[in-house]
Amino acid sequence: MPTTVIANATIVTGDATRNVIHDGAIALTDDIVSAVGPAADVLGSQPDADVVDGRGKAVLPGLINCHAHLLNVLSRGITEDFGFPPDLPFPVSIYSLVSDEERNALATLGAVEAIRSGSTTLLEMAAGIDVYAASIVDTGMRLVLAENTDDGVVGPAYRPGQTPSGFSAEQRETKLGRAEDLFSKWHGARNRRVTCFASTQLVETSSPELLAAVRGLAERYDTGYTIHLAQSRLEVESMAALRGARPSIYLADNDFLGPRLVAAHCRYVDGSEIAALGSARTHITHQPAMASLRAVHPPIPALRDAGCVVGLGTDNNTQDMFEVMRTALRTERVATENAISPQPEDVIEWATMGSARALDMDGRIGSLETGKKADLFMIDMRRAHLVPTMRIVSSWIHNGQPGDIESVMIDGEWVMRDGRVLTVDESELVDEVDRIGRRAWSRMLEEHPDTSFPLNLSPG
Ligand SMILES: [Zn+2]
Repeated sequence: MPTTVIANATIVTGDATRNVIHDGAIALTDDIVSAVGPAADVLGSQPDADVVDGRGKAVLPGLINCHAHLLNVLSRGITEDFGFPPDLPFPVSIYSLVSDEERNALATLGAVEAIRSGSTTLLEMAAGIDVYAASIVDTGMRLVLAENTDDGVVGPAYRPGQTPSGFSAEQRETKLGRAEDLFSKWHGARNRRVTCFASTQLVETSSPELLAAVRGLAERYDTGYTIHLAQSRLEVESMAALRGARPSIYLADNDFLGPRLVAAHCRYVDGSEIAALGSARTHITHQPAMASLRAVHPPIPALRDAGCVVGLGTDNNTQDMFEVMRTALRTERVATENAISPQPEDVIEWATMGSARALDMDGRIGSLETGKKADLFMIDMRRAHLVPTMRIVSSWIHNGQPGDIESVMIDGEWVMRDGRVLTVDESELVDEVDRIGRRAWSRMLEEHPDTSFPLNLSPG
């Protein structure tokens, strides 16, 4: 494959010095960044390259989402406004009312939203990923697939945080078997663009035996593992009743904390838990946009100070990492009453190198440096809401929008160019998912007419 050079652009390298090169260029050979520097130098060293005119454009390292649930696009406009666990008395999960084909469409739509908002890597945490894995892989995203396990016995209307009625060895083996199958099919696939993590969904539905098996699975494949941790007050109460310990301490007692764990949320952690998470060098993924909807600000600065590596993620219903970065900046400033920290350069680092470190992928992705993967996006700086653009990272985080992103490259391939996603028929998909959503919520009302529906839905 010939080398491509994006020239005469502003290159936000995201390297350790936060170098921004004005009138710069980046050379991409196959799936790798082969040169970054002043345009004249890079063009001079690459006389045969295909040149992309980058005037008026900025090139940034792809954003890395450490915590997503792609199917949750189905709950848009439903669950954002009712706390966590959502105070919605549904008799069954809405996800039990969609077919495998519909799951493929939902997950693909989520991946398209991720690409459009500058994400090049996404960790998908869910149960039953195998059904739609091929579809999301075909979008071109760099993926970490984390198949959820659990062995807590719960009913169809279970809400996270509630105490399971018991624990089942049979259920544990079935769920672990599914996770193993996903590993054997996808771990390392597509030039290592796809990898797998081990995962157990919730602390409260995980027995000590399951925790040991999940960590063991990750160790066998030399990869990471993930869990939701301390995401609600109900979870903390449930763990006190069930195990006589706070959630992080239960994990510490079962040797589950450590630098290969990516713990999602850590919203309700006390001082002893922050110390335990930090001393084990546990990695944490922070979902500030979702946390702010839940009216909580996790003690992220304290976790960072204690020694945790912190990445960023989206969580339910949206895959928009731009919104995540802006919310991270604003909520942390409010929480710490500090109007000058964090800076925009800090939050973009959290969403790139921070997330790359959290996923143990910082040697390959997270910055635009020679030898790293060609994962990047380009924004059009010639917009009424962005100029003047002397300090593009700040201009974009404060005044920009995901719609400023016009092109996205992942693993050396353009997956979006000039505003068009190249790997999916997007307009058809949007229509299809709108139909799927209306059908699924109508089905909920038809099959469970006693559902007390607190929303003014119009599913027709
Ligand atoms: Zn989650």
